[in-house]
Amino acid sequence: MDKIAVFPGSFDPITRGHDSVVRRALPLFDKIILAIGDNPDKNPFFPFEKRQNWLVELYSGEPKIIVMSYSGLTVDFCRKNHSRYLLRGLRTSADFEFERTIGLMNKALYPEIETVFLLCDPAYAALSSSIVRDIIKNGGNAISFVPEGINLEV
Ligand code: ADP
Repeated sequence: MDKIAVFPGSFDPITRGHDSVVRRALPLFDKIILAIGDNPDKNPFFPFEKRQNWLVELYSGEPKIIVMSYSGLTVDFCRKNHSRYLLRGLRTSADFEFERTIGLMNKALYPEIETVFLLCDPAYAALSSSIVRDIIKNGGNAISFVPEGINLEV
């Protein structure tokens, strides 16, 4: 049976931190679904189309990676797509506390799911999409924090 992982996020925008987790997870799985969450509580900075195109183009040479969108519960999306692995990155102990709660609840809702955590590359421990958005909103240059080829012009 194929090992299919789901890596959920809003990728608003994708950062080098996300990219590092995805690429390091490639040897562990047969397929990784990058699942762009359509969360009505989050008002995205970059339009959905742009976020989707970034991911599709960035990983166009990587047959194991597919890009999808979803709304609703992440575990329902996993179930529908025959995924038993949720991929997450851990930067800090705050990430761990947050992820632990979600991971335990996801397991309660879908007992077959395993959340797989990769420790973040120390180079990206302070990097988040929200910091990149703040830099852009304040007129700074955030290009070195996103993978090559990502055009951050709004
Ligand atoms: P988004 O900002 O895309 O909604 P999250 O912030 O929830 O998504 O991040 C999606 C996943 O990527 C989470 O598991 C998060 O820990 C991980 N992640 C985010 N930034 C980094 C980073 N700099 N290094 C490693 N993992 C990261």
